Amino acid sequence: MSVPFASVETAFLPDAVGRPVRLRGWVLRSRSSGGILFVVLRDRSGSIQVTGKKDVLGPEAFAAAEHVQVEGAIAVEGTVATDPRAPGGREVRAQRIDVLDAGAPFPIFSDQTEEFRLDHRHLAIRSQEHVATFRVKAELLRAFRDFLDREGVLETTPPVLSGNAAEGGAEAFRFDYFGRPAYLSQTAQLYLEALLFPNERVYALTPSFRAEKSRTPRHLTEYLHLEVELAWCDLDGLMDFTERMIVAGAHAVADRRPAELKLLGRPPAELAALSAPFPRLSYAAAIDRLSAAGLPLRWGSDLGTAEERALTLEEKAPIFVTRYPRELKAFYMLPSADDPRTVEAADLLAPEGYGEIVGGSCRDTDLERLTHRLEENGVDPKEYDWYLDLRRHGNVPHAGFGLGVERVLRWLLRREHIRETTPFPRTPSRHTP
Ligand code: ATP
Ligand code: MG
Repeated sequence: MSVPFASVETAFLPDAVGRPVRLRGWVLRSRSSGGILFVVLRDRSGSIQVTGKKDVLGPEAFAAAEHVQVEGAIAVEGTVATDPRAPGGREVRAQRIDVLDAGAPFPIFSDQTEEFRLDHRHLAIRSQEHVATFRVKAELLRAFRDFLDREGVLETTPPVLSGNAAEGGAEAFRFDYFGRPAYLSQTAQLYLEALLFPNERVYALTPSFRAEKSRTPRHLTEYLHLEVELAWCDLDGLMDFTERMIVAGAHAVADRRPAELKLLGRPPAELAALSAPFPRLSYAAAIDRLSAAGLPLRWGSDLGTAEERALTLEEKAPIFVTRYPRELKAFYMLPSADDPRTVEAADLLAPEGYGEIVGGSCRDTDLERLTHRLEENGVDPKEYDWYLDLRRHGNVPHAGFGLGVERVLRWLLRREHIRETTPFPRTPSRHTP
């Protein structure tokens, strides 16, 4: 029989029954009883039961196939049959099973500690939950890219290593660059602003690095940062854009990955029901709401995990918190025209207590004020002269935001910890495997 290799899903096509098929992949589980081997074979398209009889395969081939471990690799030739007892109602009756790699005993099974699984992450990521997460993540990235493309926003590629620490340096990873100091990027924003002027609307999807020892369920030291910068945009325009992008992402995932969402405990209908506009509330109003709820916050203090949680626990959609005190935010944010104590910033907080997922603002276009604010932060403006140059040549109003891809996924997929949304999580206590 010399049919070409096909994927598992083809065995579930309506006309597949009775036809010869060749499959290859990995063993999810297997057992044998009474001279019959039952193997569940997995490939990228799904899984199917394969049965092999000793008298059909021959005693040697049967024995070899019997010894294949979980996650061993095999190739199968056989015929598709219906079997109501098999998962999915179909099975492949094998005429031949070739062992590609019998495999060592697979070290991952249930009841192991989280620490053990993290030490064996390179193998643990073969689980159904991880695979479902990878697929949703890919779908979300595709949806965001499609959305940005439709909106005429150009994808650009700013650097991730730089001689400047974009936001001051306290939380930047510093390293030696041929004898000079260099930093891993915490944000691509300053470069995106430079890229904005020739392109008007730009975005970048790059890793950002934060050297913060925050052991919270929402901080990684390396995460995927989707940053957008838009010319001619004010704070309302920025929020409109942000919420449409989030809705597009949630809808695409609900539409194209319902099985994965269900597996991970998020009913797809909840994401399909998400709609814009999202509620908007000023920092001042948020403080009032918090103190009424028994969480008094002094004006000028940042919203912590408890505050963000209290504001969003009962919400079904994300909410924007706007106009923060200027000392809480980066030097490049535009002061509000009617209140110099606040800046034109908008953070988006995910519902159900998942916390901040997007941080955005209008960028200050005033050269003198920017210079002054750098000095206030103890930074020599000379180091940022290239950035300040942007205010000397065709300075126009613009705004932008940074979205933490894993933060959004943590909310969409209801994951307890952000590390479950990335294959090889980097945290203060772990940067291997
Ligand atoms: P937080 O207060 O939660 O630490 P931040 O104010 O430091 O967030 P920004 O500097 O505004 O965050 O970064 C933009 C976005 O990047 C955030 O809204 C969030 O989605 C994401 N983000 C920031 N820090 C991290 C991190 N350590 N791990 C994962 N995502 C992050
Ligand atoms: Mg932070």
